[in-house]
Amino acid sequence: MSEPQPTESFLYKCVFCKTERVSYWTPNPIFTLAKWQSKMACNRCADYHHTRIGLCEKIAKICRVLGVARTLSSKELSAITAATDTKLVELTRKLARAACEHAGVAMLWEREFVDLLIQSPEKQHLVVGKYLSGLRQLL
Ligand SMILES: [Zn+2]
Repeated sequence: MSEPQPTESFLYKCVFCKTERVSYWTPNPIFTLAKWQSKMACNRCADYHHTRIGLCEKIAKICRVLGVARTLSSKELSAITAATDTKLVELTRKLARAACEHAGVAMLWEREFVDLLIQSPEKQHLVVGKYLSGLRQLL
């Protein structure tokens, strides 16, 4: 069974970057274009937001593990903190790379990003949010 071929072009404004784009659709009674047109994202923004959400979820999970680990013995906590640090460096660098590429700026990442997460893993959403909002303010 083949997919229906696009038959009409239409304009939409990306919900994230507000750039006007062209897309295509086949008119049908199930899909109401007007309903979805204002919620559409361009491929570039959709890819970035998908990546960002995935990385933020991974950072949150690792921070939750660290928070629980703080209730364990100091020997275990030290090993978990070291492993968490390594993983957070990797994930925050990936997040910074994705965010900066999407923003069209040189990668901006500092060790302090990880230090703040290690220091207060329960506040990871604030730390990550502050980094991302700080990046937006630079633009
Ligand atoms: Zn966009």
